[in-house]
Amino acid sequence: MRIAAIAFETQEAMVVTDARNRILRVNRAFTEVTGYSAEEAIGQTPNLLKSGYHDDSFYLEMWHALQEQGHWRGEIWNRRKNGEVFPEWLTISTVRGSRGEPTHFVASFLDITQRKEAEEQIEFLAYYDSLTHLPNRRLLNERLDKALIATARHRRHAALLFIDLDNFKTLNDTMGHAIGDQLLREVALRLRDSVRSNDTVARLGGDEFVILLEELGERPHEAIAQVEHLARSVLAVLGQPHRFGEISYRCTASIGAVPFRGAGQTVESLLKSADLAMYKAKEAGKNALQFFDPAMQTEVEERAVLERELHQALDAGQFVLYYQPQVDRQGRLFGAEALLRWQHPTRGLVAPGAFIPLAEETRLILPIGQWVLEAACRQLAAWQAQPETAGLSLAINVSALQFRDGHFVDSVARALSATAAPARRLKLEITESLLFEDSDAAIERMQTLKRKIGVGLSLDDFGTGYSSLSYLKQLPLDQIKIDRSFVSDIGSNANDAAIADAVIALGRAFGLTVVAEGVETVDQRDALLARGCDAFQGFLYGRPLPIAEFDRLAAAQRDGRDSIQASTAAPVAAGT
Ligand code: C2E
Ligand code: MG
Ligand code: MG
Repeated sequence: MRIAAIAFETQEAMVVTDARNRILRVNRAFTEVTGYSAEEAIGQTPNLLKSGYHDDSFYLEMWHALQEQGHWRGEIWNRRKNGEVFPEWLTISTVRGSRGEPTHFVASFLDITQRKEAEEQIEFLAYYDSLTHLPNRRLLNERLDKALIATARHRRHAALLFIDLDNFKTLNDTMGHAIGDQLLREVALRLRDSVRSNDTVARLGGDEFVILLEELGERPHEAIAQVEHLARSVLAVLGQPHRFGEISYRCTASIGAVPFRGAGQTVESLLKSADLAMYKAKEAGKNALQFFDPAMQTEVEERAVLERELHQALDAGQFVLYYQPQVDRQGRLFGAEALLRWQHPTRGLVAPGAFIPLAEETRLILPIGQWVLEAACRQLAAWQAQPETAGLSLAINVSALQFRDGHFVDSVARALSATAAPARRLKLEITESLLFEDSDAAIERMQTLKRKIGVGLSLDDFGTGYSSLSYLKQLPLDQIKIDRSFVSDIGSNANDAAIADAVIALGRAFGLTVVAEGVETVDQRDALLARGCDAFQGFLYGRPLPIAEFDRLAAAQRDGRDSIQASTAAPVAAGT
């Protein structure tokens, strides 16, 4: 009994329970670890210590092992009297009576908090940089490996950015390593704040950092633009002055970038490419971004030039509207769509496809769209004054960004009243993409435009988006335009013909006018006529024209012929 009593008082905490799991006895180590005295514990069950970290199945398995094998051993999280949860290494044995029935359970455990902390510390040192607490090269390599596999599977791009601080060595040498370390920690924080939580910022050593961006776009130029955007904001954020006591220090960096997707690359080749690109950025004068791929670099540089020029184009009066005729079933001209052109001093006439996406990205589409709106209203008013054009309507394209802008409805009202243009002759062409975000607000806005202001609403490029029919029904539309892609093969592709049929039937059912875009041949026109299409627009009737030419066309139609002669001439490329 004495020996047993001494053995019971070991370093390990011990608990003895009866067959119903009531605590009969605990030792001193138990009280030290859990905070419960013997008086508090006896009579209770070990549930007293339950942390809530494990689910029922965990305890069921434990009981099962005790019944079947007579013992259980493992790691478990329990709760001390003061509420603190801690890890313990627990061993439980079943004591059986003469007939083999369980009479007692004896449990002993060690508090392994410290061991756990040590393990975590070791793991941390293996994968993280101790100065900045960013992932180190080893963890970066693992994540890069995973990113290579992931991009091959889901088709989205990822990108590696190699960042090297400019003139870090000079700072380190002149101000001392303590300041150098402080700067590196500060840079780490700023980089971390510049990316999304699923991106990785790592430090390779010295003043070399790497950002791994994941889940970028599927299309290459989309990914390039995203990388450029992030790199620019990183350069801006790093360029903010750093304060070290009295001293203010401005730090710049050079960035090399490699967007990638899928197989054909290795972790090593990517790091090497990004590193090389970073050196090119240094050579180019530092504080710069350089893509590894020269084609990507050219794209980025051209875009930067275009963006600068686009900023000035409005003030320089370089935008013009071209007017493309729209005709009814008899071929009579009833209106036009205004299509934007950029009269560029050196590039010549630039089609909207080349600059509208950039204008949207930079939000320049807002002032540009405003200009289009005002110019179109002025033109409508001018047409009213001439008998040969008095009845014409004019459609303009409205970008989703513009439509979502809080002032849009007011702008339309103001442009109409300032020019005295008739609202019912103005048509706004919108696309389905506009309806995705915040659709209730969009519908309300459309209703105001239509009911209060009295302009017409047309759904452009119909068939290319994903509108549901029930949704379409809620929209106060006047018109839908069948997208050019279905018109072009209407004679030869049964699917396209079926879509045209469906769109026209849909328009009928909802009481909407159906306009076909991109009608280039008599065959296409005939196929559309036969299906009941209401109106036509396309090279067959006329390309987008400067206003003087369009007015001549309108006058000629009124004078002599009562319909635009449909020419069978071969279609010419769009954009002029
Ligand atoms: P959209 O509104 O669908 O305009 C129709 C496009 O098809 C125009 O291209 C037009 O020139 C072209 N097109 C017309 N008939 C034919 C044809 O028979 N064959 C062929 N191959 N093409 C034809 P454009 O002028 O290059 O405009 C492209 C797009 O740019 C427009 O597509 C519209 O989404 C956008 N856009 C044009 N002007 C503006 C504007 O002022 N603001 C905004 N936000 N977007 C505009
Ligand atoms: Mg349009
Ligand atoms: Mg269209």
